[in-house]
Amino acid sequence: GVEIAGLSKSFGSNLVLDDISVSVRPGSVTALIGPSGSGKSTLLRCVNMLETPDRGTITVGSQTIEAGRRVRESELLALRRQVGMVFQSFNLFPHFTVLRNVAFPQEKVLGRSREEAEARALTLLERVGLKEKAHQHPGRCSGGQQQRIAIARALALGPRAMLFDEPTSALDPEVGVEVLAVMRELADAGMTMIVVTHEMQFARDVGDHLVVMADGHIIEEGDPRAIMADPQQERTRRFLSAVL
Ligand code: ATP
Ligand code: MG
Repeated sequence: GVEIAGLSKSFGSNLVLDDISVSVRPGSVTALIGPSGSGKSTLLRCVNMLETPDRGTITVGSQTIEAGRRVRESELLALRRQVGMVFQSFNLFPHFTVLRNVAFPQEKVLGRSREEAEARALTLLERVGLKEKAHQHPGRCSGGQQQRIAIARALALGPRAMLFDEPTSALDPEVGVEVLAVMRELADAGMTMIVVTHEMQFARDVGDHLVVMADGHIIEEGDPRAIMADPQQERTRRFLSAVL
């Protein structure tokens, strides 16, 4: 699973995460919601150390990283290998084929041979329903297809957990649905996931746990259905009425 304990992060004098603790059981899905600027992206970015937390610890599987202690490059690489991340923007290489996009990081990061990496890439492209796009360039794919390629690329490194930061918010609703379907299958297959999303139906149907953030704090957490049916905090109520 993923354990976030006592995490704090400031940008200058702006305290963006204030003593955040989140525990994600292995094989479970935590949905993370909250108003703009509440710290959701910063929290995900701290989990794979794209941002350096000021205080707290991050544990993924057997690996723990403590803020304040100098992190060795090898630890950082090991952590990033264990935690796949999918962003709102897909950041595929436009000059590579879809297959090369999914194979290349395996060769770079894991040292796999080209043959092995491409075989694995094909399997994953099939899993996200895009095997027939393997030899095209990403520019010929829809936004939803590109996001599914980005998911396949992250999965190709064999992560223990996947972080999603609003993976569908840049997409038209029709293609967003395809991406959510892939994420749902991944959850059903037992992947540990943290998903920042405004897709409340996804959070309710797929989420095992819901965390509501505001101003760098967790203001409410628990069963997604229970919180959506009967939020305990006025702030949660206001947020839900804006997005539901
Ligand atoms: P949104 O829903 O709009 O994506 P969010 O919950 O993901 O919002 P964050 O992006 O984590 O919010 O930002 C939280 C706060 O941290 C904001 O006040 C933001 O301006 C600030 N912030 C984020 N990244 C940086 C940075 N690199 N430098 C300075 N301030 C930052
Ligand atoms: Mg964000």
